[in-house]
Formats: sequence, structure tokens, C-alpha cells
Amino acid sequence: MAQRILLVEDEPAQAEMITYNLEKAGFIVMHAPDGQAAIEMARMESPDLVLLDWMLPEVAGIDVCRQLRADRDLQEVPIIMLTARGDEDDRVRGIDTGADDYLVKPYSPRELISRIKALLRRASPGGVDDKLACLDIEIDLASHKVTRGGALIHLGPTEFKLLRTFMERPGRVFSREHLLDLVWGHGVYVEDRTVDVHIRRLRKALNEGGKKDVIRTVRSAGYAIDDGSV
Ligand code: CA
Repeated sequence: MAQRILLVEDEPAQAEMITYNLEKAGFIVMHAPDGQAAIEMARMESPDLVLLDWMLPEVAGIDVCRQLRADRDLQEVPIIMLTARGDEDDRVRGIDTGADDYLVKPYSPRELISRIKALLRRASPGGVDDKLACLDIEIDLASHKVTRGGALIHLGPTEFKLLRTFMERPGRVFSREHLLDLVWGHGVYVEDRTVDVHIRRLRKALNEGGKKDVIRTVRSAGYAIDDGSV
């Protein structure tokens, strides 16, 4: 199910740009143009994550953060604050007030998305979600153990992260660029072809013994894992 993000941003051009990028990454975006609207919307919609601009007219970001944390239904919602360069004090205050992470403007859409995903993963309720399963493949997220049809599969760290990324969103096609971001991380220089190399290794490990290939190559788009529902 698509995760819902509440974006609190007063500058229309910024809001539009961020919304575009988040939607492209598969999120549902709700936009609040000011702090008051943000608090009301958060209470109504209980979003999965709040992206909070720190410099807002009237009700400032810090107050929005405080009010969300004071609300019993919202005290656990992950909050990422967006701050201007150099506002070190704001960042410290933001974290003190209960923000989970921050991004300093200007930041890249890639970085934004990967921070959001990391935070959503960490926030997944009470660690109940420590197993991922797709067809006959299972990942134990706590022990990093991967099995297929009950048999243990040995994967390198990169192959593990690739498989995990696919299994978190079965059926979804990830471009090479997107995979680079999610698996290798922001700001690491790796060629697109590297993705293909690791996909090949992942396939080889998963398909050992002539098992059916579950990773789908989508021409000129990227890769996906097939959960059999498409
Ligand atoms: Ca602003």
C-alpha cells in the first residue's frame, strides 16, 4: 500500500517540486501550506510521515513539531524537518523537539526520498515487520537470513539489499538509478552497469538448482521482483 506523506511547506514552487518527486517515488502526498493546516490535516489523516518546513509563517515548524508530539495519536509519526543552510541552532532545536531527521536546503530529490524510506522502515510498527516474504522467498530482517523454499541462500551485502528493496515493494519496477540510490546510497559514484552485475549475482544465487527466475527485467525501465499477482 502506498505510504502517505504530509508535506508542510508554504512556498508553492517548493511544494510543487517536492510533491512531484514524492509522487514519482510512489508516495501519496497531502500538502499543508501552513502550520495550522498541517496540524489539522495530521489529526484528520494520520499520515505515515511528516515533511516539515522549519520556516513557516504564523505557526512555525518548531511549534508544529511540538504540537504533533503532544498529540497522543501523532507522537510516533516520523518527522523530517527541512531547514535552511547554516541554521545549526534550528536543527538542534528541531531534534530536541522531536523531529527524527532533517535535511538542509538545497537537497537532492534522491536524498529526500532515501531519508524518507529509511525513516519509514525504522518506524514500521514495533518491529513486527521483521520478515519479508514473496513467493517461496523469505527474508529475516533481523538475522539477514534469506531462504528460498526453506533452503538457505547466501548473498553478499549488496545482493541482500537489492533483494530486500524488491521485496518491500513486490511488482514495482525500480530503475537502475533508483536502485543505486536505495542500495548504494546518495552521493556514491557507481556506474549504472554495476547494478546489472549485482542483479546477475542475485539471480544466480536465487535460481541455484534451476529454480524459476523471479526477477523481471523490464526493458529500458529496470528491474522488479514478481510476486505472481501481475
Ligand atoms: Ca518556508
